[in-house]
Amino acid sequence: MSSFHRDTWVEVDLDCIYENVKAVQEHVSDDVSVIAVVKANAYGHGDVQVANVALEAGAKYLAVSFLDEAMSLRQQGVKAPILVLGASRVSDLELAAKEDITLTVFQREWLEEASKVSLGDASINLHLKLDTGMGRIGARSKEEVKEIVSQIKSMDNFRLEGVYTHFATADEIHSTYVEKQFERFNELISEVEELRSVRFIHCGNSAATLRFPKRIFNAVRVGIAMYGLTPSPEMVPSLPFLLKEAFSLHTKLVHVKKLALGESVSYGATYTTKDEEWIGTVPVGYADGWTRKLQGMNVLVDGQYAPIVGRICMDQFMIKLPYQLPVGTVVTLIGKQEEQKISSDDVADKLDTINYEIPCMISYRVPRMFL
Ligand code: PLP
Repeated sequence: MSSFHRDTWVEVDLDCIYENVKAVQEHVSDDVSVIAVVKANAYGHGDVQVANVALEAGAKYLAVSFLDEAMSLRQQGVKAPILVLGASRVSDLELAAKEDITLTVFQREWLEEASKVSLGDASINLHLKLDTGMGRIGARSKEEVKEIVSQIKSMDNFRLEGVYTHFATADEIHSTYVEKQFERFNELISEVEELRSVRFIHCGNSAATLRFPKRIFNAVRVGIAMYGLTPSPEMVPSLPFLLKEAFSLHTKLVHVKKLALGESVSYGATYTTKDEEWIGTVPVGYADGWTRKLQGMNVLVDGQYAPIVGRICMDQFMIKLPYQLPVGTVVTLIGKQEEQKISSDDVADKLDTINYEIPCMISYRVPRMFL
């Protein structure tokens, strides 16, 4: 974003993303291609900026969820191959072919419809999704897979470039379910000969890539680790290398006042001062993604933790300051100040959710700045 006119912003440290991608590439062997997962505006970090830095660091492919996200990257000048991980409409095939965007296939009926579409001279790359236990999208049986593969073979403008699956529990270190999925993936690939010779065979998300670098075929789809976050808290002690968190969120005090004992703050008057207290107001609220459930969470100000007091409003909330501080003082919601840090993990913990959700939930209204 070139200019903005509010005192709340996200900082995305692209060097962290560069280093995380490099570290992933070093962790797997050189002949494994890194597919950088930049769906959902690169997990809230900024799609084109993350895509470009990931490619600079050695990623060979990008992945998004929907064709619109792939188109957005093309419109911003990204030339690298892009895989759409979700379902696409047959009616959008021509567009995908024109923009050279790779689609995921997993249904015979879809391919039958697709075979009626004339792409002229254009062609399209496809990756076949196998459902080995995630239960989301993907072909499940050998028969289905064989039919899909032979259907693609019979279609002139369609090329099967990849085959993949997605793990449901790779981040759970004591679960054996991931082994069952590995087994099923291996079975399907060995049973359907054509699958063994496709250009990209991939199953690893961040968790599987970090945990099983020798077993993840010739490409990995890395999202959360690229952003410097650990796929699950239980993986933290056994991380093979340090992940560098790229996302931080800051704002500034826009108002500071001293309240007397017994005065109330915000909607519902749910907070009452227990003494004379310095209260600061910041211009960020639930419309920015800082949800009301974060009442009571700490922020950082002047290098110290300060609690959010009273209800979070749509565009503002209040914090209890440790002492009087000037208007304009930086307040950090996610990130570091001096020796203190609030991670997306801490926010996720408070909200009883996963760290993935935190940068994603910071809305479009908060400008992203790139370091
Ligand atoms: N592959 C698929 C199909 C996904 O849906 C996702 C993310 O949810 C990823 C790869 C990346 O996963 P992670 O962010 O855990 O690396």
